[in-house]
Amino acid sequence: MKVPILYNSLTKKNEELQTKEPGKVRIYNCGPTVYKRQHVGNMRRYLFADFLRRSLEFFGYEVREITNITDVGHLTQDEIDAGEDKLEVEAKRQKKTPQDIAAEQTDLFLHDLQSLNIQPAHKYPKASEHIKQMLTLTEALLKKGHAYQTASGVYFDVTSFPAYGALSGNTLNNIAAGARVTVRSEKKHPADFALWKTDDPEHIQQWDSPWGRGYPGWHIECSAMSLEYLGSDIDIHTGGEDNRFPHHENEIAQSEGATGEPFVRVWMHNRHLLFSGKKLAKREGLQITLDTIRERGYSPLAFRFFVFSSHYRSPLEFSWEAMNAAEGKLNTFRHFLRRLMELPSTPPIGQQMRGSEALRKFAEALSQDLNTPRALAVVFDFIKQSNAALDASPDGETAGEIEATLKKIDSVLGIFEQLKEEIKTETIPLAVRNLARQREEARRAKNFEKADELRAAIEKEGYTLEDTSSGPRLAKQS
Ligand code: AMP
Ligand code: ZN
Repeated sequence: MKVPILYNSLTKKNEELQTKEPGKVRIYNCGPTVYKRQHVGNMRRYLFADFLRRSLEFFGYEVREITNITDVGHLTQDEIDAGEDKLEVEAKRQKKTPQDIAAEQTDLFLHDLQSLNIQPAHKYPKASEHIKQMLTLTEALLKKGHAYQTASGVYFDVTSFPAYGALSGNTLNNIAAGARVTVRSEKKHPADFALWKTDDPEHIQQWDSPWGRGYPGWHIECSAMSLEYLGSDIDIHTGGEDNRFPHHENEIAQSEGATGEPFVRVWMHNRHLLFSGKKLAKREGLQITLDTIRERGYSPLAFRFFVFSSHYRSPLEFSWEAMNAAEGKLNTFRHFLRRLMELPSTPPIGQQMRGSEALRKFAEALSQDLNTPRALAVVFDFIKQSNAALDASPDGETAGEIEATLKKIDSVLGIFEQLKEEIKTETIPLAVRNLARQREEARRAKNFEKADELRAAIEKEGYTLEDTSSGPRLAKQS
């Protein structure tokens, strides 16, 4: 097993990973707020988590990964004070229930992850299904003197937690000095945050609690669900850089305050994806999603490649030129894979495999705080060497050895296998591919009758269609 070095945003140091249980890693990822389609900036964040998880598995760890779904209003500190809830605002605008919006957006989110070949988390717990756990934590915090009740709800008392600010570097004095004048007077300190809110009878999603009907604050959901599924002292917790404060700072205060045990060993935060120098954000009209990428003629895999080509702790500027360049690099991969696929490859015999040096360098790069750009350079070097090897001996054994190495690389890169499938379907007539596309659209629109008709039409043309975890797969009937 290879032990990686990871940058810990809590200690601000590169550290060798020391998991609680040897050989096992428990990861919690802060997931989407499902009121609007996730944009490509959000996708950078899940791709980073995917590269992390796949690298750890590549090193030999057993990984358990949880990604939550925020389907109960995503209340940031400012919005709690302004009384706004994004999910409810969107529900009213569309004249739907918050539950309907959340269900639609959760489906789209999971589908986007699949398009990017992101490995599914072991569980996607929903905030709305863990209210009981949030109430238990809130009760524990009240009992231990970390929280207090007011007319508008229950608040966490930041002055009761001396380590408050350790993650973000904020001090209570700084926060107090920067606080808005609109801060509710019943809060003892401007940085105190809501655990449970009871002062909004208009709020659609409400539950009973010992403190009256109400709804949870945003931060408490992650403390409750990570504790439920991963226990305390979890190995890695990830999020985008904007999650660091107040969200993660508050999660630490709540979790450690309630359990008295350490919450997280390593905190990892990806930098943002930018567009014209600004953070891509849902509210600013920069709605570039995977659909926009497809509409412009690029494949989601090109976006996966683009994100892999930069380090997660560097800001990354999105542009259509960059997507164009990424698609060009995928073409280099496609070209190489076609060449390999034309040879009758034979599996390699023995240990001495061509590419073992490339694999060693690939692992080394990933073990240095997930240096994906350096790992990618190793991949391109390997392709160059492999092309030369195939020029010299274009036989099945050479191809077989190269393929075995590519397969290992692809367990992290997550691109080659998909491209191979794409190449295989290139030989399938366009009319059949179109039928499959229409069937996929019908299926996604839950028009199953039409989907079945289209499948029958595909079979009539002499092809089969199989739904796999990476999407529908066409093949010639044997
Ligand atoms: P949200 O749905 O707003 O809660 O965001 C989901 C995840 O995406 C969070 O972990 C954010 O930190 C992350 N995120 C939001 N915007 C960006 C961006 N432009 N680049 C990278 N990550 C982001
Ligand atoms: Zn969270």
